[in-house]
Amino acid sequence: MCPGGSSASAGVVPTAAAMPAQPLSDLAAAAADAVTRAKIGESDFPHDPDDEPLYAGRKKIYPQHVSGTFRRVKWALLVVTLGIYYFLPFVRWDRGPNAPNQAVLIDFPSRRFYFFFIEIWPQEVYYLTGLLIIAAMALFLMNAVAGRLWCGYLCPQTVWTDLFITVERWIEGDRREHLLRDQQPWRFERAVRAVSKHFCWLLIAWWTGGAWVLYFGDAPTLVKELATFKAPAVAYGFIALLTFTTYALAGWMREQVCVYMCPWPRIQAALTDEYALNVCYRYDRGEPRASLKKAAALHEHGQAAGDCIDCLQCVYVCPTGVDIRHGSNLGCIQCGLCIDACDAVMAKIGRAARLIAYDTDLNIRARQQGGQTTYRLVRTRTVLYAAIIAVVGAVMAYALATRNAQALTIIHDRNPLFVRLSDGAVRNAYAVHIANKHRETQNFVLQVTGLVGADVETIGSDRNPKGEPIIAVGPDQTRQVRVIVTTPQPLEPGASIPLTFSILTADGQVGATATDRFVGP
Ligand code: SF4
Ligand code: SF4
Repeated sequence: MCPGGSSASAGVVPTAAAMPAQPLSDLAAAAADAVTRAKIGESDFPHDPDDEPLYAGRKKIYPQHVSGTFRRVKWALLVVTLGIYYFLPFVRWDRGPNAPNQAVLIDFPSRRFYFFFIEIWPQEVYYLTGLLIIAAMALFLMNAVAGRLWCGYLCPQTVWTDLFITVERWIEGDRREHLLRDQQPWRFERAVRAVSKHFCWLLIAWWTGGAWVLYFGDAPTLVKELATFKAPAVAYGFIALLTFTTYALAGWMREQVCVYMCPWPRIQAALTDEYALNVCYRYDRGEPRASLKKAAALHEHGQAAGDCIDCLQCVYVCPTGVDIRHGSNLGCIQCGLCIDACDAVMAKIGRAARLIAYDTDLNIRARQQGGQTTYRLVRTRTVLYAAIIAVVGAVMAYALATRNAQALTIIHDRNPLFVRLSDGAVRNAYAVHIANKHRETQNFVLQVTGLVGADVETIGSDRNPKGEPIIAVGPDQTRQVRVIVTTPQPLEPGASIPLTFSILTADGQVGATATDRFVGP
């Protein structure tokens, strides 16, 4: 993490000598902004967080529009992630007859999760465990490589807030216009804009809730049912809940979710190391920060000045209101927008880009002392996280590729454990569950081995010519049958004999096996 870079350091290189001496027209915007801030009583300089009291009321943030590489990356990710979220329920996937054709579907009534060609049954919930492990490791890996990549680019809170801010900017204008309007008394135009903004926010929030419920039923059917008020009440309940949470979190609470509510910044701060890239202000490019005019005056007196001209553009574009020049902190979601803002300023004044950049404090200090910079992408933790992702992913892929299309589970009757018949024979009973994951009905032959001469009887099933029970299970269904195993042979006192239950498929192959015990008196 980059520590505060605001302290001037000895031996800084004066770079302002290279700057053009004439006033710059594009900095007039910054000057105008300063006037605006003066009008509304906003300080020219952000406060040092160390000087602030323990409690402070929320200061509304008016993020300014910015263009640049990181903004383009964020646009692309916003379109991709929201596009996937809103439209995925309408993607179809043909699974043949007797199966839903929605590509991604959480089917609670049938207790199935469908993801394109993958169908997860309730007893295969361990795949979910694998996915959670991979997700956690991916988060750790991102953090080890480049800090809060998740927070800055992919987190739903960031993506939806970005969308809400964009809508707000379209309706209320960019930072300065919005700032001034908020200081004016309520008039018709201001009211219309405010109502329009909240209407658009609610529309997005409602669509967000609506898209969510479409993952739990056939999307086209559910849309029709929702529109005609024939959908289940729980669907309307969840839409209302998600409409409210989206509107509140992305429209009103915004950066407060990241700063106060989300645990990830605290966790990631404990997981990071000195080689992880983070958005840093490169204080090795000189101090003090001074306007072009002040820097020129300093140079005239033989004094140093840094590359930062204190225009505060990096602060104005920040969606969480952070001044990254104070160093990394919990409020910085590392979205990179301040890099774009500062790069634009540097380009205008003819100085090198990336005064703010993804970097490490080690490198900044190394450059300050004239040393070599090092970027260590491959290190123990990154290799370890990547290896865990690869191993868990490979195990899951293997398990998916080789999993049976049928499953068998046995539950021994507990009470009574056994029954002694009048002729001396001993009987044990079992509940046998057979899952048929095929799309057609399957006739499974049940075999029980381990007890020579035992009779196997199932209630309500046919037998094949060999006398073995045949159990028919419908497509994509689970059937429970009661199986009674009886042995006429005398048993040792306290006998506990291992039994193997097998189901044979139509081609005579063993489809699945399970073991239990036969117990005697
Ligand atoms: S300081 Fe920069 S990287 Fe951090 S949240 Fe603000 S704009 Fe994004
Ligand atoms: S945008 Fe760059 S030059 Fe302007 S205040 Fe921020 S760091 Fe300094």
